[in-house]
Amino acid sequence: MTIASPKSPRALLKALREVLAQKAGAQARLDRVAQLVGGSMAAEVCSIYVLRADELLELAATVGLNPNAVHNTRLRLREGLVGTVADAARPLNLTDAPAHPNFAYRPETGEDPFKSFLGVAILRGGRPRGVLVVQNQIERHYAEEDVEALETVAMVLAEMLAATEFLEMRGAQGTAAEPGLPLTLKGTALAPGIATGTALLHEPRVRITKLIADDAESELARLEDAVAALRQSIDQTLRRDDPLFLGTPLEVMETYRMFAHDKGWLARLQEAVRSGLTAEAAGERVQNETRAKMMRHRDRYARERYADLDDLANRLLRHLTGRAGAEADIDGEIVLVAHHMGPADLLDYDHTKLAGVLVEEGTASSHVAIVARALNIPMLGGLRDIADQVAPGDQVVVDAELGELHVRPQAQLITAFRQKLALSEERRARFEALRDVPAETADGVHVDLLLNAGLLFDLPHLGETGADGIGLFRTELQFMVSRTFPRLTAQTELYAEVLNAAGEKPVTFRTLDLGGDKILPYFDAAKEENPAMGWRALRFVLDRPGLLRYQLRAMLASAAGRELRLMFPMVSEVDEFIRARSLVDREIEWRQRHGYDLPSSIRVGCMLEVPSLAWQLDALLPITDFLSVGTNDLLQFLFAADRSNARVTDRYDFLSPAVLSFIRHVAARAERNGVPVTICGEAAGKPLEALALIGLGIRSLSVPAAAIGPVKLMVRSLQVGEVEPFIGSFLERPDRSMRSELKAFAEENGIML
Ligand code: PEP
Ligand code: MG
Repeated sequence: MTIASPKSPRALLKALREVLAQKAGAQARLDRVAQLVGGSMAAEVCSIYVLRADELLELAATVGLNPNAVHNTRLRLREGLVGTVADAARPLNLTDAPAHPNFAYRPETGEDPFKSFLGVAILRGGRPRGVLVVQNQIERHYAEEDVEALETVAMVLAEMLAATEFLEMRGAQGTAAEPGLPLTLKGTALAPGIATGTALLHEPRVRITKLIADDAESELARLEDAVAALRQSIDQTLRRDDPLFLGTPLEVMETYRMFAHDKGWLARLQEAVRSGLTAEAAGERVQNETRAKMMRHRDRYARERYADLDDLANRLLRHLTGRAGAEADIDGEIVLVAHHMGPADLLDYDHTKLAGVLVEEGTASSHVAIVARALNIPMLGGLRDIADQVAPGDQVVVDAELGELHVRPQAQLITAFRQKLALSEERRARFEALRDVPAETADGVHVDLLLNAGLLFDLPHLGETGADGIGLFRTELQFMVSRTFPRLTAQTELYAEVLNAAGEKPVTFRTLDLGGDKILPYFDAAKEENPAMGWRALRFVLDRPGLLRYQLRAMLASAAGRELRLMFPMVSEVDEFIRARSLVDREIEWRQRHGYDLPSSIRVGCMLEVPSLAWQLDALLPITDFLSVGTNDLLQFLFAADRSNARVTDRYDFLSPAVLSFIRHVAARAERNGVPVTICGEAAGKPLEALALIGLGIRSLSVPAAAIGPVKLMVRSLQVGEVEPFIGSFLERPDRSMRSELKAFAEENGIML
């Protein structure tokens, strides 16, 4: 049969539409697509490879290659040029394909005479589903329009392949679990806690039934209307009066507004419509590109920005398909399941009904995780293909303590979890009862229990937990959830709001601790080999004093008439502290010169996170108002073990003679000089570690909100008079850890851990 060869992309799409409309079987339709594309692009070969469930790419249709190779030639992902295209999810355009290092010759295909090669990935949801290839004998460089046309066809193919009749072809063994059977998946805890509930798919995939437009002009108009409606709905969300929307998370949502108004995004959508797609298909095509980029990107922050764009594309699709604002009919405890989810999406749900959140991607520093933690909703990430593994209505158990997800669990497991949940609720109730009692040991020694915070969402925890104040306010979080450097007024307002919420309780602001794993999406810092030991924290702001002075100015203004406590992170030598402190003095002078009120008192402290500083205590202690030991960083430098590298981070124990005698040294010197010391790393929030710290003479701990109750319970059950000699006896020992002995000691002495 001869097939007319459509020449323009639009004509090709039109011809494809006819193929799609035909009643022919799956194979016949694939063959027709290969013929149409080959003809349209003047290619001697057009082949379609389909990714099977066993991850093999199978030649499913071809014109130009040996027909006997169809369903016989298979390649692994990353094997040959086809495997390379699928793996990288990027087009490969080669004039001399056999010269490419990944070229893998398959004699059965008879492809040896073909020199030039253009392959594009068939993507669905950003994942490869196959590869579409054209080849020619001459050395031809395919034009950019050819690449785009092939990508558009690939998108149509992705929809065709998703149809059930192709499943057979894609290999017998499915990757997804058998429906109905229990399944346990390992994930990463992004927000702590345990939950059981019914799965609800966040935005079940919008199925696009019509891919090819009848009339490009009216599609463009539809697209523009939908984008306008999307912008309007985002503006409305931003205006909502809910206290949850106050402050920083609002800035998070501002990023959507900026993306929604991004000209490049709109231009890509319009371009896709002009090539003959419907507005929905254009939305999906642009979304696919974004997802593919997102999956390729190794940089966490870039991935999070792409996730925002992905989220926006979903919203656009819902506007186009008339499903915007259709809030799920939530009844009872719901566990949301999402491929990706933006913070605004999470806030769209009635959070009182949400028991948990599960996402495929996501990191603890992603916006949505920050919001989930602030709302106290357990959240797991790192769950590959989660939306395929869980069906709406499935019972799930989210264990964000162990980082596990149980899907359709057996009855005994649900019962066990209900007990665990009841136990943790019982514990929580016990902690709540402790809220207003002091953190005082059984022999009458007071321990200050302070909160680690960083966003406005954290402030209600002060009252809820009965913490004695905020011992560490990580100011960089505000910078990390903003799209641009927060202005002076935004910083001043945030700090003032924190101080207002704290009332009489003290707040210690830490100046910007950027660098290391805390990267600003809008600040293009050079890549470093060892960022944790690189140009970060105080080093960074001493080289950019304008940034630090700005922040100090905001802090001084926010605390006018009341006490201001601030401290500098990652001080490595006393000279750095002196230089930073002199900037505080300059800002005080500036305010005085301009006749502005000053804080009633100003206390400037130093974080001790770099071991070198412990050998300059004689010089440091007389000039600092307090010390705050950041054990997260301290341990990584003390043991030379990267805190973000899972292979080494737990290799050395906090409860080791090295760490304990180090802290003992610092605590004793500080006490002699009358300088208060707080420990503010994660270790301080673990009851056993906190017990050891108290035994070393520490009387102030700054911990995450969830740790206040457990640590207070432990404090109230111990006798300092017994703990101190026990810990002291351990400092010179050769053992690697005193964990088990300390546990046994706690048990014998009735200390509640
Ligand atoms: C620390 O290093 O212990 C600390 C409190 O600071 P951060 O975790 O923010 O680096
Ligand atoms: Mg630190």
